[in-house]
Amino acid sequence: MSGGLVTAAYIVAAILFIFSLAGLSKHETSKQGNIFGMAGMAIALLATIFGPDSGSIGWILLAMVIGGAIGIHLARKVEMTEMPELVAILHSFVGLAAVLVGINSYIDHGPGLEAVMENIHLTEIFLGIFIGAVTFTGSVVAFGKLRGKISSRPLMLPHRHKLNLLALVLSFLLLVMFVRTESVGLQVFALLIMLVIALAFGWHLVASIGGADMPVVVSMLNSYSGWAAAAAGFMLSNDLLIVTGALVGSSGAILSYIMCKAMNRSFISVIAGGFGSDGTATGDEGESGEYREISAQDTAELLKGSSSVIITPGYGMAVAQAQYPVAELTEKLRARGVKVRFGIHPVAGRLPGHMNVLLAEAKVPYDVVLEMDEINDDFADTDTVLVIGANDTVNPAAQEDPRSPIAGMPVLEVWKAQNVVVFKRSMNTGYAGVQNPLFFKENTQMLFGDAKESVDAILKAL
Ligand code: NDP
Repeated sequence: MSGGLVTAAYIVAAILFIFSLAGLSKHETSKQGNIFGMAGMAIALLATIFGPDSGSIGWILLAMVIGGAIGIHLARKVEMTEMPELVAILHSFVGLAAVLVGINSYIDHGPGLEAVMENIHLTEIFLGIFIGAVTFTGSVVAFGKLRGKISSRPLMLPHRHKLNLLALVLSFLLLVMFVRTESVGLQVFALLIMLVIALAFGWHLVASIGGADMPVVVSMLNSYSGWAAAAAGFMLSNDLLIVTGALVGSSGAILSYIMCKAMNRSFISVIAGGFGSDGTATGDEGESGEYREISAQDTAELLKGSSSVIITPGYGMAVAQAQYPVAELTEKLRARGVKVRFGIHPVAGRLPGHMNVLLAEAKVPYDVVLEMDEINDDFADTDTVLVIGANDTVNPAAQEDPRSPIAGMPVLEVWKAQNVVVFKRSMNTGYAGVQNPLFFKENTQMLFGDAKESVDAILKAL
């Protein structure tokens, strides 16, 4: 394939990626968006493999078959609830790839470049490895936290912000040394020390962030992985990789900004790591007391006597795969003339849009699925709220306790309704590890058990 044809194919692929992002921004067009993205990636792969800069096609195909087989196996095996972990570990691969491309570019870069171009190339290599290494360890920690292998509590090292600043300053000095020195030994030294610092920096950045703030971290790492890919594109002089990386990097940054706004967090503090908590409160000491239980039968009676119902789903609905009976319950209640709506918190579940995807999968009509801002004022006029597997996103401590790790985070104000039924299996805390005073309020009743089984039992009783 000629260079001109490859450039044309890259332009088509880049346009398809832009269409893909536009499609993915709305429920109705998200399938189309995926198709555009897949078509763009297929064109990009073919143009790269058969382009003039490609090496031995045999090796590339072998790597693709092995990688593709692992990818297909994992994608078929992964549960919907494990998707966030999968996304996090995939981000780590992008970071690792950028590190390896950087090391390879350094080993491979021969003499022959003008001094200025040589400096630019060395800077690209240094930054590519730095961003890649931060993305790599940051994503591994995010994976561990999402999988429950690493505590979701924030790591509170003394002087942690100063440590971060020191890592950045040292890395900058090493960059200057790497670019300016004539000695190969010193260059390798600077690169290796920076690599160690960047790996530790990435680890620390994400480890210092508490459970409830993880959504912002996931989208931020998404953005970092885009910039790591763009850096690899510069090192490989591959225009499409630069454009694609920049698209992922900037869309991830926009998503992080939206998440920060939704959670009332400062964007800058997120980038600095370890925001939102000064380590004085763990949340364990939150309000406790008497709670009341309710049976599925009595919940059905309560629903029969309600004219308006709001369902606020959370991560537990995903774990229980309760979306199908929940959709059936919605249909049944609506058929009885009950006004049923859903209130979706922007960080409910473990992925942006997690609940929307589950409800769409179960064919719940889009027009009854409302965002937190659209529904929060309506709880006071609602007869019954069903909190299905949600915890942090309906926790009044965010408003009532300034020392709480989730203080300031906007939440669904479910406690304002006349009756609240909380579906969960135990009195355990949610992802942020914070006790929930909602469970002890007078108008709240707990329906213990697996959410799917509980909704099935209610359906039977109806
Ligand atoms: P939480 O994680 O706060 O709580 C989920 C609740 O579901 C738990 O209290 C659990 O209680 C219950 N549960 C689990 N399994 C079942 C089951 N089978 N049946 C019934 N209940 C079940 O959920 P939220 O959605 O309210 O909050 C999401 C949290 O995750 C927030 O802290 C958010 O910041 C964080 N997060 C969100 C991300 C995103 O992008 N959306 C990404 C990363 C983190 P029990 O064990 O007693 O059953």
